[in-house]
Amino acid sequence: MKVSETMISTLREVPAEAVIASHQLMLRAGIMRKLGNGLFAYLPFGLRAFRKVENIIREEMDNIGAMEFKQPVVVPGDIWKESGRWETMGPGMLKAVNRVDQELVVSPTAEEAFTAIIRDELSSYKQLPIVAYQINTKYRDEIRPRYGVMRGREFTMKDAYSFHTTQESLDETYEKFAKAYRKVFKRLGLSVIPVRADSGAMGGSGSEEFMVESVIGDDTLILCPKCGYAANTEKAACAPDTPKTIDGTPQKATDKPYNEIATPNVKTIEQLTDFLKTTPQSFIKTLIYHVINSELDLSKAPGCAQLKRVTENGGANPYYPDSFFAVCIRGDLDVNEAKLAALLKASEVELASDTDVERITGAAVGFAGPVKLSTVPVVADETVMAMHDCITGGLKTDVHFEHVEPNRDFTPYITADVRTVVAGDKCPHCGAEFYSKKGNELGHIFKLGYKYTKTMNVTYLDENGKQQIPTMGCYGIGVDRALASIIEEHHDDNGIIWPMSVAPYQVAIIPVKFEGAMKENALAIYEELQKAGIEVLLDDRNERPGVKFKDIDLLGIPVRIVVGDKNLPNVELKCRNSSEMQLVPAKDAAAKAAEIVKAELAKLNG
Ligand code: ATP
Ligand code: MG
Repeated sequence: MKVSETMISTLREVPAEAVIASHQLMLRAGIMRKLGNGLFAYLPFGLRAFRKVENIIREEMDNIGAMEFKQPVVVPGDIWKESGRWETMGPGMLKAVNRVDQELVVSPTAEEAFTAIIRDELSSYKQLPIVAYQINTKYRDEIRPRYGVMRGREFTMKDAYSFHTTQESLDETYEKFAKAYRKVFKRLGLSVIPVRADSGAMGGSGSEEFMVESVIGDDTLILCPKCGYAANTEKAACAPDTPKTIDGTPQKATDKPYNEIATPNVKTIEQLTDFLKTTPQSFIKTLIYHVINSELDLSKAPGCAQLKRVTENGGANPYYPDSFFAVCIRGDLDVNEAKLAALLKASEVELASDTDVERITGAAVGFAGPVKLSTVPVVADETVMAMHDCITGGLKTDVHFEHVEPNRDFTPYITADVRTVVAGDKCPHCGAEFYSKKGNELGHIFKLGYKYTKTMNVTYLDENGKQQIPTMGCYGIGVDRALASIIEEHHDDNGIIWPMSVAPYQVAIIPVKFEGAMKENALAIYEELQKAGIEVLLDDRNERPGVKFKDIDLLGIPVRIVVGDKNLPNVELKCRNSSEMQLVPAKDAAAKAAEIVKAELAKLNG
């Protein structure tokens, strides 16, 4: 391609709206432009890189036998009602109504669409497993789109769905995806941290997230330096530790009954530990949570008899739009809201409003506690049940209880792990101290089980002619986010440094001036490279050489050939990822450049 025939839209200034390198460089190099909040247009150079990312993903999906489909982006609301997610998906899902009042969804993901299509195609066990994928547009009405295409509203995802007769078959496909993803990220030149949600054992349910390290990462990763355990903080577990008293000795059970103590105006844990000369570890912190769309059965839970349960859609996934829980945790720890939401099968949890806290606890904010609390179910973190002789809020303004014994003085409705694991906590497998990193999720593989096939009535006939329900897996990679992450990992002050596999063009030829012998030699090299199947860009603009060098560096083209009067009959050959320059005879330049391209590709693809 000659530059005069395409569009280079580079910017010299760093756009103020962009804070991370990839966002800045995508704008500066003219990879994309913002059309609206969270909505981006790719320009020709950017689209070439984007398509390469797509194609690498496509090739690796095809390599494991996945079949490519293409679903509509706008799908009927009815299939979302069947799965129950019409209600539970929340405001992130964009809904629309057409001229005949049909409700529609702009796909934020496509479990429903694939389940519906496969349901109609599937009749016999002989067809299974089915592994289907698409690379297609998604829309999520993210509250805060940010960092350019890293978190946009419209984006492209490779999403795959598999259907199986047995758990073993699902496990097998899941492992194939786990391998294919590693291959994809290697080919893209990306270093990823695979994070497993389970212990890594085969069978059962499982999921693995592929994270890229980033200072602006929305996820916190908990990592073990010794055994390699890696988990998203949303799921990380740690080894239990012994709660201590103020003098550092393990807490001991007390025979004393719990009793009220006056704690006027003492509300925060710091105020309380000062006032009572104790440690946060002796305090049971109780937080009242507003829980949205819980799918737990709360019919027998304390205080829940009057709760409204939505049982539309023939009872598929009935849920409580609003419920409240008291969540207890040791005073020195924090509740992890993602773990809590997962435990309560809720779409969201949030701290209750002051009014709700006062109504539920019968006291001002700051005096909640699990003892004698009957208005809401109590969730106790596991750490609480190991505590002794502790202090809690007294369900009366300015009152606390002391000498509280968990189990003796209250019984939680649920005991589970809801703590936020942090650096310094101990690994549950080997006991080493965790460290942590920030990261972004690039891809995700997940054993879904029967969630969609059951609610959407997917069946097949087994060997004995008996009706069965298939089990499912799902597998996603964000294409735009992958592209941005590649730039995040491969750049310097002068611009992008594309890995050869995704570079918009592999070689750029810059004649110092596009005239005379320089023009002749540049064109000869250009034609030879084109014949060799190399993607080559010829900067035939009538610009100062400095401008052309800056642009080609900013664009990150991996190999640069400069044709100048001073060096002819030699030309200058330089790789973007190195400062070394070599002079080669003009007649050998194309062959030499082609060799570099092929070697780089082999390294990434090997
Ligand atoms: P996140 O936690 O970052 O919101 P998610 O858990 O919602 O991600 P999935 O539903 O698993 O993401 O989607 C699969 C992939 O789609 C993600 O790994 C990510 O690469 C990409 N993705 C998700 N949301 C966005 C977005 N708003 N913009 C760009 N890519 C996205
Ligand atoms: Mg999300």
